Order: sequence, then C-alpha cells, then structure tokens
Amino acid sequence: MTELDYPGDVLGFADDLTDAERATLARLRGFLDETVRPVLADRWERGENLADIRAPLAAMRLLDDPALIGADGTVRALYRGFLTLELCRLDLAVSMTYGGQVSMFRTLVHEGGSREQIAAWDAGILDFTFTGCFALTEPDHGSDIAGGLSTTARRTADGWVLDGAKRWIGNATISDNIVVVAREHDGDRVLAFVVPADAPGVTRTVMAGKGAVRLVHNADIVLDGVVVGEDRRLPRIASFRDINRAFRTLRATIVWTAAGMQLGAYDAAVRYAQQREQFGRPIAGYQLIQDKLVRIAANIAQTLALAVRTATNPRGGDVTPALNKLIAADRLRESVALAREITGGNGILIDHDVMRFFTDAEAVYTFEGTREVNTLIVGRALTGHSAFTR
Ligand SMILES: Cc1cc2nc3c(=O)[nH]c(=O)nc-3n(C[C@H](O)[C@H](O)[C@H](O)COP(=O)(O)OP(=O)(O)OC[C@H]3O[C@@H](n4cnc5c(N)ncnc54)[C@H](O)[C@@H]3O)c2cc1C
Repeated sequence: MTELDYPGDVLGFADDLTDAERATLARLRGFLDETVRPVLADRWERGENLADIRAPLAAMRLLDDPALIGADGTVRALYRGFLTLELCRLDLAVSMTYGGQVSMFRTLVHEGGSREQIAAWDAGILDFTFTGCFALTEPDHGSDIAGGLSTTARRTADGWVLDGAKRWIGNATISDNIVVVAREHDGDRVLAFVVPADAPGVTRTVMAGKGAVRLVHNADIVLDGVVVGEDRRLPRIASFRDINRAFRTLRATIVWTAAGMQLGAYDAAVRYAQQREQFGRPIAGYQLIQDKLVRIAANIAQTLALAVRTATNPRGGDVTPALNKLIAADRLRESVALAREITGGNGILIDHDVMRFFTDAEAVYTFEGTREVNTLIVGRALTGHSAFTR
C-alpha cells in the first residue's frame, strides 16, 4: 500500500485520520501516481483537459464509501481536507476537475436546492452522470460581481428566460449543467438556475491561451433567451448572502488547496535537490538550498494549521475566510517561487513539475477573491470603513 507522508505536518494532523480514511487516501495516491501523474506534462503542453479521470475517481467512492460516512451522513471535514490536499499535491487541475463537481456543484445543489431536487440529482452528481459547474463571473464584472451582476432572469408563464454572458467558467465544456447566477429582471433577487448545458441559446467557448491551470478548460458562455423551468431554479438561493451561505462548508477548501500545492512543489524541489550535483555534491547538501526547503516546509506547516482549524472549527462571517485566503495564497506564491529557485533552469521545464505549481499558484491567487478584495473585506471589519469604491 502507498505510504502517506506529509512533510510540514509538524503538528501531526494526519495522525487524526481514521484507518479507513488513511486507506482511502493511500489508494487514491496510488491511483494518481500510477495513472494520472505520467500524463500530466504532455497534456499540459497540449492544453488538454482531464475529463477522463472523473469516472475512475467516481468509482473510488472517495466521498460516499460507507466506511467513511459518519453518523451525520457525511464524511469528516478533516478527511475532506486531506482529500483536497492529496489531489492538489499532484496537480491543481486534478482537484478542480473532481472537486468542481462533487464539492462546488454538489454543495450548491445541497444548500440551494429543494428536497426533491437533491433526491433526483445527488446520486448522479456523485457518480458523475449528472455533472455541473458554477457560472457567476461575467466579462465585465469580476471582483464587483455582487454589485454588477448583469445576467438577467425574466419570469414567464412557462418558467424563466435567461440573458447574459459569463466568463472563466471552469469545466463548463465538460458539464451537463451550468449553475447560472442571474438577477431577477423585475425584482432585486439574485437567483441560481441549473441550466442544461445543451439548452437552445447556450453557447460555450473554451478560452484559449491560458498560462495557468491549463488542464482545466475555462469557458466564455453566452445565454441568449435561454428558457428554463421553475423546477430548475434552486429555491433556497435568493441573494448573494444565500450564495455565501451555500459555500460556507467549502470555505476551508482553498487553504487545503494551497497546502497541497505547496507539498507538490516541495516534493519536486527536494527530489531535484537530491539528484542534481554541482561543485561535486548534491545541491541538497548546501545550506542555501536547505534554507529554501525549510522555508517551504514552514509555509506548509502554517497553511496546514489554518486549513485544519478552519475545517474542524468553522466560523461564521466574512473575515476568517478572507484572511485565510490571503495568507494561504501568499504562502503558496512564496513556496512555489522557492521551489522554482531550487530547480534552476530546469525548473521552468514542465518535466520537472515545479512549473505547473508555479503557474497554477497565479490562478489560486486570483480566484475566490483577489488579495485586494480580501484585504478590503478584512480592512472594513478592522476599521469600520469600507474602502471598496475609493
Ligand atoms: C483559473 C480561473 C478559474 C476561474 N473559475 C471560475 C468559475 O468556475 N466560475 C466563476 O464564476 N468564476 C471563475 N473565475 C473568475 C474569478 O472568480 C475572477 O477572476 C475573480 O473574481 C477576479 O475577477 P477578475 O479576474 O475580473 O479581476 P478584476 O476584478 O478585474 O480585478 C483586477 C485587479 O483589480 C483589483 N481590484 C478590483 N477591485 C478593486 C478595488 N475595489 N480596490 C482595489 N483593487 C481592486 C483586483 O484585486 C485585481 O488585482 C475563475 C478565474 C480564474 C483565473
């Protein structure tokens, strides 16, 4: 069986995993190392997505194996976190291809949907026969989407008509459904619809020329008079506050993501440092190289501590997730830069792994709230003054 090891887990958080959780994570790591790792560099070069890994991952029942389910009917937050960490340790896109479905899409349905919708869709979400993505961002509105949402939903006798455009939507071209966030045409509500991706009036175009997360395809989406039934509206979402509420269980995910990516960059750097010789000995034996490895390990320790505490003792409000995202993204950016330094010129070659983490860190830095926006959230809480518009 694959051994689990987590350099930087100085506080021993992984020791709290159960035997069943450890066994599942070890199986996952074995599958990823044998099946997915070998194809990453080539796919990255060609900008191909990883849609084909979804079926084998679904078959592993990482979230619905009865051995993992507790009395509350779900997996433990600590396990869920280490699952994200394992996926990101190999590659951010691997995690986004899997998690965009079973974390993001599933959470939206569970937190926003009716009992009937959950009953009808959940099994298909878990086995990837009913796939989905989340479309909030628009071409002209990113950070200011809450104030600027311009996609509209107009009520008709038959249901709703959606008009607008979305940008950056991850997995949109490999999803059966798109959760579209739209403003009510004649009202103030912010609504969410599970729109069939092949509905007339929906156009999806893969965004070309992406330099980060190349293994996930992001799409521009146009919605031109798209008709959806009321049965496709998530009835428990009527505002941005509801969307934030829906995502509260996922708020630690980005910190686990940052921890996992740092582990992946560390693995690649330490591997390289052991085998690369300069001045007659492995560079791992030089103090300045060790300093960088230790700084990455220290960053992992800090990020992991934040991730675990946030997952196991979630707090309400905006401040904790904003500060956590900001800290985790900063640590990640520093760690991948250190790993890239250790690997010298080879570090910018895709074959040495570090470059995937280096470029993907830039995506993490921007999505789920940029550094500036998270700073504005925390700054407002600390001072009582909102500085968003000046
Ligand atoms: C790889 C990737 C995947 C994504 N996947 C999805 C997805 O699946 N679904 C989805 O809906 N969206 C997705 N997004 C979109 C993402 O949420 C946005 O990129 C993000 O919200 C930032 O918006 P923007 O890129 O338009 O930047 P902008 O908002 O235009 O920001 C540009 C710069 O201005 C700064 N800025 C903005 N406002 C202020 C201010 N008031 N004060 C100071 N500085 C400010 C920002 O911090 C940033 O540095 C994805 C993005 C990426 C890169």
